[in-house]
Amino acid sequence: MVEENKNNERRALEKLKLTELYRQFNEQYPSIEHVWYALLQHAIEALLIFCRECRSTDFLRKKGSRKGKCLHCGQWQSLTAGGFLSNVRRPRAWLFALKLLASKQFFSGKLFHEVVGVSQSSAAHIFKAIGYAVGQKLDEDTTLVKSSFFQEVFFHRSSETPKGKHPQEEELYFGLDEADSRPGAMPPGSLNDQPISDNGLSNEDSAEAVVEALKSLIASLSEDQQKIATLLSTNPAHTDVLTRDSGLTVPQAASSLTLLELAGVASRIPGDRYVLAESALLQVSGVVGGADVDKSDLTKSQIKVVSLFLMFVRRVFSGLSRKWLHHYLSMFSCYLDEDRWDYIAISTACFEAGYVGGRHLLNYVSPRLVKLPIEPY
Ligand SMILES: [Zn+2]
Repeated sequence: MVEENKNNERRALEKLKLTELYRQFNEQYPSIEHVWYALLQHAIEALLIFCRECRSTDFLRKKGSRKGKCLHCGQWQSLTAGGFLSNVRRPRAWLFALKLLASKQFFSGKLFHEVVGVSQSSAAHIFKAIGYAVGQKLDEDTTLVKSSFFQEVFFHRSSETPKGKHPQEEELYFGLDEADSRPGAMPPGSLNDQPISDNGLSNEDSAEAVVEALKSLIASLSEDQQKIATLLSTNPAHTDVLTRDSGLTVPQAASSLTLLELAGVASRIPGDRYVLAESALLQVSGVVGGADVDKSDLTKSQIKVVSLFLMFVRRVFSGLSRKWLHHYLSMFSCYLDEDRWDYIAISTACFEAGYVGGRHLLNYVSPRLVKLPIEPY
Protein backbone atom coordinates (compact mmCIF):
# COMPACT_ATOMS: atom_id res chain seq x y z
CA MET A 1 0.00 0.00 0.00
CA VAL A 2 2.81 2.37 0.95
CA GLU A 3 4.59 1.33 -2.22
CA GLU A 4 1.47 2.13 -4.22
CA ASN A 5 1.13 5.60 -2.72
CA LYS A 6 4.76 6.30 -3.45
CA ASN A 7 4.28 5.35 -7.07
CA ASN A 8 1.12 7.43 -7.40
CA GLU A 9 2.91 10.42 -5.94
CA ARG A 10 5.80 10.08 -8.32
CA ARG A 11 3.44 9.62 -11.21
CA ALA A 12 1.54 12.80 -10.32
CA LEU A 13 4.81 14.73 -10.27
CA GLU A 14 5.87 13.31 -13.62
CA LYS A 15 2.52 14.25 -15.09
CA LEU A 16 2.86 17.83 -13.87
CA LYS A 17 6.31 18.00 -15.40
CA LEU A 18 5.13 16.64 -18.76
CA THR A 19 2.12 18.98 -18.78
CA GLU A 20 4.41 21.95 -18.27
CA LEU A 21 6.79 20.78 -21.02
CA TYR A 22 3.84 20.37 -23.38
CA ARG A 23 2.59 23.86 -22.53
CA GLN A 24 6.02 25.31 -23.40
CA PHE A 25 6.15 23.25 -26.57
CA ASN A 26 2.73 24.50 -27.70
CA GLU A 27 3.84 28.06 -27.07
CA GLN A 28 6.84 27.51 -29.30
CA TYR A 29 4.85 25.75 -32.05
CA PRO A 30 1.42 27.36 -31.88
CA SER A 31 0.05 26.24 -35.25
CA ILE A 32 0.16 23.07 -37.31
CA GLU A 33 2.19 25.06 -39.87
CA HIS A 34 4.92 25.60 -37.28
CA VAL A 35 4.86 21.89 -36.50
CA TRP A 36 5.23 20.73 -40.13
CA TYR A 37 7.89 23.32 -40.75
CA ALA A 38 9.97 22.04 -37.82
CA LEU A 39 9.39 18.38 -38.70
CA LEU A 40 10.46 18.68 -42.33
CA GLN A 41 12.88 21.59 -42.57
CA HIS A 42 15.97 19.79 -41.42
CA ALA A 43 15.24 16.71 -43.56
CA ILE A 44 14.93 18.91 -46.65
CA GLU A 45 18.14 20.78 -45.86
CA ALA A 46 19.96 17.52 -45.28
CA LEU A 47 18.69 16.24 -48.66
CA LEU A 48 16.86 13.33 -47.06
CA ILE A 49 13.65 13.86 -49.04
CA PHE A 50 13.57 12.97 -52.74
CA CYS A 51 11.18 13.79 -55.56
CA ARG A 52 9.23 10.65 -56.36
CA GLU A 53 9.39 11.43 -60.08
CA CYS A 54 12.97 12.48 -60.67
CA ARG A 55 14.82 11.89 -57.36
CA SER A 56 15.71 15.57 -57.14
CA THR A 57 16.11 17.00 -53.64
CA ASP A 58 15.21 20.60 -54.57
CA PHE A 59 11.80 21.60 -53.35
CA LEU A 60 9.75 24.70 -53.10
CA ARG A 61 7.70 24.23 -49.98
CA LYS A 62 4.14 25.18 -49.51
CA LYS A 63 4.52 27.01 -46.25
CA GLY A 64 3.62 24.98 -43.21
CA SER A 65 2.27 21.94 -44.99
CA ARG A 66 3.67 18.59 -45.97
CA LYS A 67 3.41 19.50 -49.66
CA GLY A 68 6.26 20.65 -51.87
CA LYS A 69 6.93 21.38 -55.53
CA CYS A 70 9.92 19.72 -57.14
CA LEU A 71 12.05 22.47 -58.65
CA HIS A 72 13.44 20.05 -61.21
CA CYS A 73 10.33 18.43 -62.72
CA GLY A 74 7.67 20.76 -61.38
CA GLN A 75 5.54 18.09 -59.64
CA TRP A 76 3.65 18.97 -56.50
CA GLN A 77 3.78 16.14 -54.02
CA SER A 78 3.57 15.04 -50.42
CA LEU A 79 6.98 15.34 -48.81
CA THR A 80 6.17 12.67 -46.27
CA ALA A 81 4.74 9.94 -48.51
CA GLY A 82 6.53 6.64 -48.13
CA GLY A 83 8.87 8.05 -45.50
CA PHE A 84 9.09 7.99 -41.72
CA LEU A 85 6.25 10.49 -41.34
CA SER A 86 3.87 9.05 -43.90
CA ASN A 87 0.39 8.35 -42.51
CA VAL A 88 1.14 10.59 -39.54
CA ARG A 89 -2.15 12.02 -38.35
CA ARG A 90 -0.95 13.78 -35.23
CA PRO A 91 2.26 15.55 -36.29
CA ARG A 92 2.23 17.61 -33.10
CA ALA A 93 2.60 14.45 -31.02
CA TRP A 94 5.51 13.26 -33.20
CA LEU A 95 7.39 16.54 -32.99
CA PHE A 96 6.83 16.72 -29.24
CA ALA A 97 8.12 13.15 -28.80
CA LEU A 98 11.24 13.92 -30.87
CA LYS A 99 11.87 17.06 -28.85
CA LEU A 100 11.44 15.18 -25.57
CA LEU A 101 13.95 12.51 -26.54
CA ALA A 102 16.39 15.14 -27.79
CA SER A 103 16.17 16.95 -24.45
CA LYS A 104 16.58 13.68 -22.50
CA GLN A 105 13.09 13.80 -21.08
CA PHE A 106 11.48 10.40 -20.83
CA PHE A 107 7.90 9.58 -19.94
CA SER A 108 5.80 6.46 -20.15
CA GLY A 109 3.45 6.06 -23.12
CA LYS A 110 0.57 6.20 -20.66
CA LEU A 111 1.48 9.67 -19.39
CA PHE A 112 2.13 10.88 -22.93
CA HIS A 113 -1.35 9.63 -23.84
CA GLU A 114 -2.92 11.46 -20.91
CA VAL A 115 -1.17 14.77 -21.50
CA VAL A 116 -0.95 14.94 -25.31
CA GLY A 117 -4.29 13.26 -26.02
CA VAL A 118 -3.17 10.60 -28.50
CA SER A 119 -4.27 7.04 -27.77
CA GLN A 120 -1.99 5.00 -25.57
CA SER A 121 -1.13 2.67 -28.43
CA SER A 122 -0.24 5.61 -30.69
CA ALA A 123 1.95 7.05 -27.96
CA ALA A 124 3.74 3.73 -27.59
CA HIS A 125 4.06 3.41 -31.36
CA ILE A 126 5.67 6.86 -31.70
CA PHE A 127 8.38 6.11 -29.15
CA LYS A 128 9.05 2.61 -30.45
CA ALA A 129 9.29 3.87 -34.03
CA ILE A 130 11.83 6.50 -32.99
CA GLY A 131 13.69 3.89 -30.93
CA TYR A 132 13.70 1.60 -33.95
CA ALA A 133 15.12 4.37 -36.17
CA VAL A 134 17.85 5.27 -33.69
CA GLY A 135 18.65 1.56 -33.31
CA GLN A 136 19.32 1.32 -37.04
CA LYS A 137 22.22 3.74 -36.54
CA LEU A 138 23.83 2.04 -33.57
CA ASP A 139 25.73 -0.69 -35.39
CA GLU A 140 29.11 0.90 -35.40
CA ASP A 141 29.38 1.69 -31.72
CA THR A 142 27.65 -1.08 -29.88
CA THR A 143 28.45 -4.51 -28.60
CA LEU A 144 26.05 -7.40 -28.43
CA VAL A 145 24.92 -8.63 -25.05
CA LYS A 146 22.41 -11.26 -24.02
CA SER A 147 18.89 -10.04 -23.50
CA SER A 148 18.74 -12.19 -20.35
CA PHE A 149 20.72 -9.49 -18.56
CA PHE A 150 17.57 -7.40 -18.60
CA GLN A 151 15.19 -10.08 -17.36
CA GLU A 152 14.74 -8.10 -14.15
CA VAL A 153 12.51 -5.52 -15.85
CA PHE A 154 10.39 -7.82 -18.01
CA PHE A 155 7.01 -7.26 -16.41
CA HIS A 156 4.67 -6.91 -19.33
CA ARG A 157 3.32 -9.92 -21.11
CA SER A 158 3.91 -10.22 -24.82
CA SER A 159 2.90 -12.69 -27.48
CA GLU A 160 6.17 -14.46 -26.65
CA THR A 161 5.23 -15.03 -23.03
CA PRO A 162 4.48 -18.72 -22.39
CA LYS A 163 0.87 -19.36 -21.30
CA GLY A 164 0.38 -19.06 -17.57
CA LYS A 165 3.99 -18.02 -17.00
CA HIS A 166 5.55 -14.80 -15.74
CA PRO A 167 7.03 -12.60 -18.51
CA GLN A 168 10.46 -13.10 -16.97
CA GLU A 169 10.29 -16.74 -17.99
CA GLU A 170 9.94 -15.71 -21.61
CA GLU A 171 13.68 -15.45 -21.84
CA LEU A 172 14.06 -19.07 -20.85
CA TYR A 173 11.63 -20.27 -23.49
CA PHE A 174 12.90 -17.88 -26.05
CA GLY A 175 16.40 -19.24 -25.46
CA LEU A 176 15.23 -22.73 -26.39
CA ASP A 177 13.69 -21.47 -29.61
CA GLU A 178 16.69 -19.47 -30.61
CA ALA A 179 16.52 -19.06 -34.32
CA ASP A 180 18.30 -15.92 -35.23
CA SER A 181 20.46 -13.84 -32.96
CA ARG A 182 21.19 -11.07 -35.36
CA PRO A 183 20.12 -7.76 -33.87
CA GLY A 184 17.35 -6.13 -35.82
CA ALA A 185 16.47 -9.40 -37.49
CA MET A 186 12.83 -9.84 -38.28
CA PRO A 187 11.40 -12.90 -36.62
CA PRO A 188 10.71 -15.98 -38.66
CA GLY A 189 7.07 -16.98 -39.08
CA SER A 190 7.14 -19.34 -36.17
CA LEU A 191 9.98 -19.53 -33.74
CA ASN A 192 8.88 -23.00 -32.70
CA ASP A 193 9.72 -24.42 -36.09
CA GLN A 194 13.36 -23.71 -35.55
CA PRO A 195 15.79 -26.37 -34.39
CA ILE A 196 16.87 -26.16 -30.78
CA SER A 197 20.30 -24.72 -30.41
CA ASP A 198 22.40 -25.29 -27.34
CA ASN A 199 24.83 -22.42 -27.69
CA GLY A 200 22.09 -20.16 -26.35
CA LEU A 201 22.15 -21.48 -22.80
CA SER A 202 23.23 -18.20 -21.41
CA ASN A 203 25.43 -17.20 -18.60
CA GLU A 204 22.62 -17.15 -16.07
CA ASP A 205 25.09 -16.63 -13.25
CA SER A 206 26.10 -13.23 -14.59
CA ALA A 207 22.55 -12.13 -15.21
CA GLU A 208 21.46 -13.21 -11.77
CA ALA A 209 24.47 -11.59 -10.19
CA VAL A 210 23.66 -8.21 -11.77
CA VAL A 211 20.07 -8.45 -10.63
CA GLU A 212 20.95 -9.59 -7.12
CA ALA A 213 23.61 -6.93 -6.70
CA LEU A 214 21.21 -4.19 -7.77
CA LYS A 215 18.47 -5.55 -5.57
CA SER A 216 20.64 -5.82 -2.50
CA LEU A 217 22.09 -2.39 -3.08
CA ILE A 218 18.65 -0.77 -3.24
CA ALA A 219 17.20 -2.97 -0.50
CA SER A 220 19.96 -2.05 1.91
CA LEU A 221 18.75 1.57 1.90
CA SER A 222 16.06 3.18 4.02
CA GLU A 223 12.76 4.09 2.41
CA ASP A 224 13.71 7.77 2.13
CA GLN A 225 17.11 6.89 0.70
CA GLN A 226 15.51 4.63 -1.88
CA LYS A 227 13.31 7.51 -3.03
CA ILE A 228 16.43 9.56 -3.73
CA ALA A 229 18.59 6.71 -5.01
CA THR A 230 16.20 5.80 -7.81
CA LEU A 231 16.41 9.41 -9.05
CA LEU A 232 20.19 9.39 -9.32
CA SER A 233 22.02 8.70 -12.55
CA THR A 234 25.31 9.72 -14.14
CA ASN A 235 23.62 12.98 -15.18
CA PRO A 236 24.01 15.52 -12.36
CA ALA A 237 20.78 16.42 -10.59
CA HIS A 238 20.37 19.48 -8.38
CA THR A 239 19.43 18.98 -4.72
CA ASP A 240 16.23 21.01 -5.22
CA VAL A 241 15.13 18.78 -8.07
CA LEU A 242 15.94 15.61 -6.12
CA THR A 243 14.00 16.95 -3.13
CA ARG A 244 11.00 17.88 -5.24
CA ASP A 245 10.91 14.67 -7.30
CA SER A 246 11.39 12.41 -4.29
CA GLY A 247 8.44 14.01 -2.52
CA LEU A 248 10.54 14.26 0.66
CA THR A 249 10.77 17.34 2.89
CA VAL A 250 13.93 19.45 2.61
CA PRO A 251 15.49 18.11 5.85
CA GLN A 252 14.54 14.51 4.95
CA ALA A 253 16.13 14.82 1.52
CA ALA A 254 19.23 16.52 2.90
CA SER A 255 19.83 13.83 5.50
CA SER A 256 19.13 11.04 2.97
CA LEU A 257 21.64 12.55 0.57
CA THR A 258 24.27 12.78 3.29
CA LEU A 259 23.71 9.14 4.23
CA LEU A 260 23.75 8.04 0.58
CA GLU A 261 27.05 9.86 0.16
CA LEU A 262 28.49 8.10 3.20
CA ALA A 263 27.21 4.77 1.87
CA GLY A 264 29.02 5.42 -1.40
CA VAL A 265 25.84 5.51 -3.46
CA ALA A 266 25.71 9.24 -4.24
CA SER A 267 28.52 11.67 -5.06
CA ARG A 268 28.26 15.38 -4.50
CA ILE A 269 29.62 17.55 -7.29
CA PRO A 270 30.05 21.34 -7.51
CA GLY A 271 26.87 23.40 -7.72
CA ASP A 272 24.98 21.44 -5.05
CA ARG A 273 24.34 18.58 -7.47
CA TYR A 274 24.52 14.81 -7.11
CA VAL A 275 25.33 11.87 -9.37
CA LEU A 276 25.22 8.14 -8.84
CA ALA A 277 28.59 7.33 -7.31
CA GLU A 278 31.13 5.36 -9.26
CA SER A 279 31.51 3.12 -6.21
CA ALA A 280 27.84 2.12 -6.38
CA LEU A 281 28.25 1.05 -9.97
CA LEU A 282 31.50 -0.73 -9.23
CA GLN A 283 29.85 -2.50 -6.31
CA VAL A 284 27.49 -4.01 -8.85
CA SER A 285 30.26 -4.76 -11.32
CA GLY A 286 32.38 -6.16 -8.48
CA VAL A 287 29.83 -8.88 -7.86
CA VAL A 288 29.54 -9.74 -11.51
CA GLY A 289 33.27 -9.64 -11.98
CA GLY A 290 33.70 -12.11 -9.09
CA ALA A 291 35.72 -15.29 -9.30
CA ASP A 292 32.75 -17.59 -9.76
CA VAL A 293 31.44 -16.08 -12.98
CA ASP A 294 32.78 -15.62 -16.45
CA LYS A 295 34.53 -12.26 -16.46
CA SER A 296 34.95 -12.24 -20.18
CA ASP A 297 31.23 -11.87 -20.61
CA LEU A 298 30.80 -8.20 -19.78
CA THR A 299 33.27 -5.42 -19.16
CA LYS A 300 32.90 -3.10 -16.19
CA SER A 301 31.74 -0.31 -18.41
CA GLN A 302 29.13 -2.58 -20.00
CA ILE A 303 27.87 -3.61 -16.57
CA LYS A 304 27.56 0.06 -15.73
CA VAL A 305 25.44 0.67 -18.82
CA VAL A 306 23.26 -2.36 -18.05
CA SER A 307 22.76 -1.16 -14.46
CA LEU A 308 21.86 2.35 -15.57
CA PHE A 309 19.44 1.02 -18.14
CA LEU A 310 17.70 -1.16 -15.53
CA MET A 311 17.29 1.83 -13.23
CA PHE A 312 16.07 3.94 -16.14
CA VAL A 313 13.41 1.41 -17.12
CA ARG A 314 12.22 0.93 -13.56
CA ARG A 315 11.96 4.64 -13.00
CA VAL A 316 10.29 5.71 -16.24
CA PHE A 317 8.30 2.72 -17.41
CA SER A 318 8.17 0.47 -14.28
CA GLY A 319 8.86 -2.45 -16.60
CA LEU A 320 8.70 -3.50 -20.21
CA SER A 321 7.90 -6.38 -22.47
CA ARG A 322 10.91 -8.38 -23.59
CA LYS A 323 9.69 -8.04 -27.15
CA TRP A 324 10.49 -4.30 -27.15
CA LEU A 325 13.80 -4.43 -25.30
CA HIS A 326 15.77 -3.57 -28.42
CA HIS A 327 13.82 -0.36 -29.06
CA TYR A 328 14.05 0.74 -25.44
CA LEU A 329 17.80 0.16 -25.41
CA SER A 330 18.10 2.30 -28.53
CA MET A 331 16.02 5.02 -26.91
CA PHE A 332 18.26 4.75 -23.88
CA SER A 333 21.30 5.53 -26.03
CA CYS A 334 19.75 8.98 -26.69
CA TYR A 335 19.94 9.46 -22.94
CA LEU A 336 23.38 7.96 -22.48
CA ASP A 337 25.08 9.82 -25.31
CA GLU A 338 23.41 13.18 -25.24
CA ASP A 339 26.06 14.93 -27.30
CA ARG A 340 25.54 12.60 -30.21
CA TRP A 341 21.76 12.38 -30.07
CA ASP A 342 20.60 15.93 -30.44
CA TYR A 343 17.40 16.77 -32.29
CA ILE A 344 19.08 16.80 -35.70
CA ALA A 345 20.70 13.40 -35.21
CA ILE A 346 17.46 11.79 -34.03
CA SER A 347 15.46 13.38 -36.85
CA THR A 348 18.06 12.27 -39.41
CA ALA A 349 17.93 8.70 -38.11
CA CYS A 350 14.14 8.74 -38.47
CA PHE A 351 14.12 10.03 -42.05
CA GLU A 352 16.84 7.58 -43.01
CA ALA A 353 14.90 4.71 -41.50
CA GLY A 354 11.97 5.39 -43.83
CA TYR A 355 8.49 4.13 -43.09
CA VAL A 356 8.15 2.19 -39.83
CA GLY A 357 4.62 0.84 -39.78
CA GLY A 358 2.63 -0.57 -36.91
CA ARG A 359 2.80 -4.03 -38.40
CA HIS A 360 6.54 -3.69 -38.74
CA LEU A 361 6.88 -3.07 -35.01
CA LEU A 362 4.25 -5.60 -34.03
CA ASN A 363 6.11 -8.34 -35.83
CA TYR A 364 9.34 -7.38 -34.22
CA VAL A 365 10.84 -9.54 -31.51
CA SER A 366 13.97 -8.41 -29.73
CA PRO A 367 16.71 -10.83 -30.65
CA ARG A 368 18.48 -12.83 -27.97
CA LEU A 369 21.56 -10.73 -28.46
CA VAL A 370 20.80 -7.01 -28.26
CA LYS A 371 22.90 -3.98 -29.02
CA LEU A 372 24.20 -2.37 -25.86
CA PRO A 373 24.91 1.34 -26.24
CA ILE A 374 28.35 2.46 -25.24
CA GLU A 375 29.08 5.30 -22.85
CA PRO A 376 30.53 8.21 -24.76
CA TYR A 377 33.52 8.72 -22.43
ZN1 LIG B 1 11.03 15.99 -59.56
